[in-house]
Amino acid sequence: MDKKFIYFFGEGQAEGDASDEMIRLLGNKGAQLQGMTKIGLPVPPGFTITTDVCDYYFEHDGQLPEGLVEQVRANISRLEQVTGYRFVDIEQDPLLVSARSGAAVSMPGMMETILNIGLSDKCVDAYIERHGNKEQPKKFILDCQRRLYEMFGQNVYGIEREKFRKIFDGFKEEAGIQEETLLTSSHLQTIVTKYKQLYKENGKELPQDPLQQLTDAVKAVEESAMGEKARNYRKAEGLPEKVGTGVNIQTMVYGNENITDCGTGVGFTRDPSTGINNRQNPYGEFLLGGQGEDVVSGSRNVFSISHMKQSVPQAYDELMKVCDILEQRIKRVQDYEFTVWRGKLYMLQTRNGKLTGRANVRSSHDMVREGLIDVRDAVLRVVPENFEQLLHKMIDYEAMKCDGVQLDEVVINRGGAGVAASPGGGVGKAVFDVKTALEYKERGEPVILCRLETNPADYPGMIVSEAIATARGGKTSHAAVVARNKGIPCVVGTGVDIDEESKRITYQNNKDETVTINEGDYISVDGSAGRILNYKASLTEPSPDDPDLQDFLQLLYPIAKMRVYANANDSGEAARALQFGAEGIGLARTEYMFLEDKLEGENRQLAIQSWILAEEEEVVKLKALERLEQMQKRDFLEMYSVMQDKPIIIRLLDYPLHELLSGAKAHLDELSEATKLNQEHLKQRIDGYHETNPMLGHRSVRLGITHPEIYRVQVRAILSAAEEFNNSTDKKYLTPHIEIPLVCLVNEVKNMEQLVGEEAEKLGFSRGGYSSKGDNRYLLGIMYELSGASFEADSLAQVSDFGSFGTNDLTQTTMGWSREDGSATFMPRYVGQGIVGEDPFITIDKDGPVAKAMAHAVLLARAAKPDYEFGICGEHAADPASLEVCYGVGLSNVSPAPNQVPIAWLRSAQLSLTKEYGNMLNEYAVKASTSFSKSIGK
Ligand code: PEP
Ligand code: MG
Repeated sequence: MDKKFIYFFGEGQAEGDASDEMIRLLGNKGAQLQGMTKIGLPVPPGFTITTDVCDYYFEHDGQLPEGLVEQVRANISRLEQVTGYRFVDIEQDPLLVSARSGAAVSMPGMMETILNIGLSDKCVDAYIERHGNKEQPKKFILDCQRRLYEMFGQNVYGIEREKFRKIFDGFKEEAGIQEETLLTSSHLQTIVTKYKQLYKENGKELPQDPLQQLTDAVKAVEESAMGEKARNYRKAEGLPEKVGTGVNIQTMVYGNENITDCGTGVGFTRDPSTGINNRQNPYGEFLLGGQGEDVVSGSRNVFSISHMKQSVPQAYDELMKVCDILEQRIKRVQDYEFTVWRGKLYMLQTRNGKLTGRANVRSSHDMVREGLIDVRDAVLRVVPENFEQLLHKMIDYEAMKCDGVQLDEVVINRGGAGVAASPGGGVGKAVFDVKTALEYKERGEPVILCRLETNPADYPGMIVSEAIATARGGKTSHAAVVARNKGIPCVVGTGVDIDEESKRITYQNNKDETVTINEGDYISVDGSAGRILNYKASLTEPSPDDPDLQDFLQLLYPIAKMRVYANANDSGEAARALQFGAEGIGLARTEYMFLEDKLEGENRQLAIQSWILAEEEEVVKLKALERLEQMQKRDFLEMYSVMQDKPIIIRLLDYPLHELLSGAKAHLDELSEATKLNQEHLKQRIDGYHETNPMLGHRSVRLGITHPEIYRVQVRAILSAAEEFNNSTDKKYLTPHIEIPLVCLVNEVKNMEQLVGEEAEKLGFSRGGYSSKGDNRYLLGIMYELSGASFEADSLAQVSDFGSFGTNDLTQTTMGWSREDGSATFMPRYVGQGIVGEDPFITIDKDGPVAKAMAHAVLLARAAKPDYEFGICGEHAADPASLEVCYGVGLSNVSPAPNQVPIAWLRSAQLSLTKEYGNMLNEYAVKASTSFSKSIGK
């Protein structure tokens, strides 16, 4: 027997079904038609030609496989039997069919539909005669005929759609007719004659043999699967080069027969932008007297589906039932097409609806509430990008399209350059320095700060910006880290010519013209896609209290094994982190607290800079330190009052001193007054702090050892604020977590243990455990940011109470790649040549050295202290792929920026449902011990 190329469906019987295997074989549309038929939904009978035929067609240079035409014939006969109509019939109304493409994955660019196949000119004449030349039937059959000519001409002969539209619209205009249902049969006759003329001009003729029409239509569908548009789409979407399509041949039902009880419509079982299931006013459109594409083509005025209640009430009721059945069976929001013919409903298609992030989150959760799916399904079907839309203002690309603006026309950083450093969209006037940013802001004008790269002196300008754009830098550069923590959209490493001096951006647009953007011109930044746009975009509005988001988070908390903290440097950020569900603060970077004034006239930068520059001027120094202690204590108290008894990990000063001095030369007069040193002297001192390699230089714990007074001040501020907080409460007692950055050696920690211990003792705090009434405790932890620390993790764990991976520095120091410059210099080539799969500052490679450094550290530390709490506070804590590594090495908590907390909850929950917690530790341990055994011959 010939291979089976065709699967029939009709009258409750179907040779196929909607299983995954059938979706592969028949394409999604075909398999769903089979599935709907099988469960008794009203589907016009038909058959699906398998995707194997398409594969054959391409392997054999446009030939259909032997036996296919016979199988088509046999299935047409079967259709004739089932429907009672005949394919070639001038005696009675003929059987007409549609042909539609449908691959396993949706593929725009493929041929969509040819309707009314089988309608020969003779059939039309006979039909008119049989119906007594009456206007209504005549008009109907001519409308079918003109549609066949249009679709066949376009899809089989490649005659441009525009040419048909020109004839049709031109005629309507001439006849002074707006609504196409008002065309008379004689109008339609003229149009068909003009179409025939158009065919002739193209050297074509519509085949009069219905089977020939059908075969040509099938070939046109097969051909379109390999057409340029479909191939380009597959390439852009990363789909395989060849994806075959199924061809669906289905008995016609006629929504265009009249405008009283016939029509066509499309709809979604739930609103695809909100996810709401509103059965009073279902999402979708219906058109009386329409066929095929009329609803979506925009050429006719359509009505909401609820209007069917009046015109075709039975069909409406049935449609609502069908929606429920489809969702119960497929358990996804469905996007469907239907026709109503003589008051009866026919389903033509169903597929999973493309939903906005919000709609996916909301509908998934609603389906749990309705008992359609379980929590596991809901958690696994939401993707991090869905959350992003709820968490940030986003560029409204739809609105941009409506304004007739093409993305490609307005993107400044073309060719894929640009790291999406902090998600969300911002719109404002381009400014190129902090002073101007602040001046604009003062006047109430929104700004976007554009810099080559940023440094701490830019901080005041950064935090008033709607978005930040830099030419250089990667995902862990200064701009990226600050922006993410503040929830400000940011794109870095764009390679764009940002001229800070002339205050302008110059770029080549998509027409290769040079375009200049000057200070004050509106631009937009898409920090989620990594783009700068020369365009004043509109933004969509998010809210942290968003009920869809908050409700969904409730599903995640009980499942997630890795708990989620947040990086927050002040009480505002801490409050935002809590709103998004953080259970603690995994990193408070205290250096940021020296950069931003909280009260009028504080001048924190001046205080920290005068402490540094005063050097041996003890009185000045002490005064500066005293001020710093007061400010920090106030900051911590504010944070404690937000976080209450939740853990807060406060890291002692990490910046190299010269970074804290950036911008100092701009206010030497103030510094001179504060330090009593002359400006020349101050300049020399500032220069004296210059280091060739500051990232590996005089910073962090090293600073604490050489300048213990600043660490003592910080420890006192942390503990005395905690004491004050604990004295003021009788319920929730706080246990401060003090953290030392960038340690490598046990002796460094021992030094810090002593320093912290001495200050703690003075304030009556003891180490270890948790505070309770009248018993103040603190914990001392360390950051693992050097691979040296990973090797020492067993000893380091002995002297510390908890650890946290600073994977920004850990990546930098393990790989020896600069976190500030790497992403913009050699990284594109490294990624391009496949030396690394992804920029390691964005994603930790699960088989790469950073993941191994982490696994090694966790293994050693937990061997020494089984309950040792290990977290991560590097920027990878919000990266979905890196979170898999964190979960794989069994981290206790992850700490991303506040706005990214929900994404970390989602990934943690998803991993908890699908993977074994700590699975990478076993693998790493087994591998390491096997190779050790081998090398020592055991
Ligand atoms: C890190 O290095 O990952 C980290 C969190 O510290 P910072 O980014 O402040 O250096
Ligand atoms: Mg670090």
